[in-house]
Amino acid sequence: MIITIDGPAAAGKGTLASTLAEKYRLAYFDTGMVYRAVGLMMVLDGLDVNDEVLAEETAKKLTFVKMIELSRHPDFRSQTGSRAASIVSAHPKVRAALLKMQQDFALTPTFADGKPANGVIYDGRDTGTVVCPQADIKLFVTAATEVRARRRYDEYKQKGIDTPYDKVLADMIARDKRDSERASAPLKPAEDAVILDTSEMNAAEVAAKASALIEAKTAKKITTGCRIKQIVLEK
Ligand code: C5P
Repeated sequence: MIITIDGPAAAGKGTLASTLAEKYRLAYFDTGMVYRAVGLMMVLDGLDVNDEVLAEETAKKLTFVKMIELSRHPDFRSQTGSRAASIVSAHPKVRAALLKMQQDFALTPTFADGKPANGVIYDGRDTGTVVCPQADIKLFVTAATEVRARRRYDEYKQKGIDTPYDKVLADMIARDKRDSERASAPLKPAEDAVILDTSEMNAAEVAAKASALIEAKTAKKITTGCRIKQIVLEK
């Protein structure tokens, strides 16, 4: 089974993906990590993240192991890291260079300890439209901009990061704009995605709704048998 969850920042994708991954024993790929890794590599090397040629060269050097190593860096999820990731992700050549690595993850779904998983769950912006259009279940998780900015502000506060709410909101609006207006793989729901608006839902309610959708779809597949899709990803 392959599930994709796309949507804007702070909509609740990561929390939902982790819950579903545990519940259905799926290997989880947070695809924002590939762009965060490239952005951070460039920042650490003193390179200009706006330079598409340098960004592509950096993306081509990225491996899964390197990405995990970089994810432990304090700037991986900081505002500096988020801004760099958002800028590099708008370069079409960077997206092209990072596609295979994301798709290959679904070829042999395994957990970090090497044990086999029942499938894969992706979260990102284009996982249902570009990374895995063959996915069995596609969710598009969203929420009102102010609600998402408030969630991010509360997260920062909990971590002891002191940023005014207005700045968090302005950053959120800028990232949404870059994500939805970029020429390559702009943020938008896949045609066959189910849209979940989490503005007035807590994490448990979102997980319950998504689980119901997954189980209804899986049950339908069992009864209709021959309609099960075979997932074939290009190497
Ligand atoms: O989800 P996260 O905030 O970690 O993503 C970091 C950046 O990577 C985002 O600003 C987004 O623009 C970009 N991204 C993307 N496509 C994905 C996942 C993330 O462009 N599939």
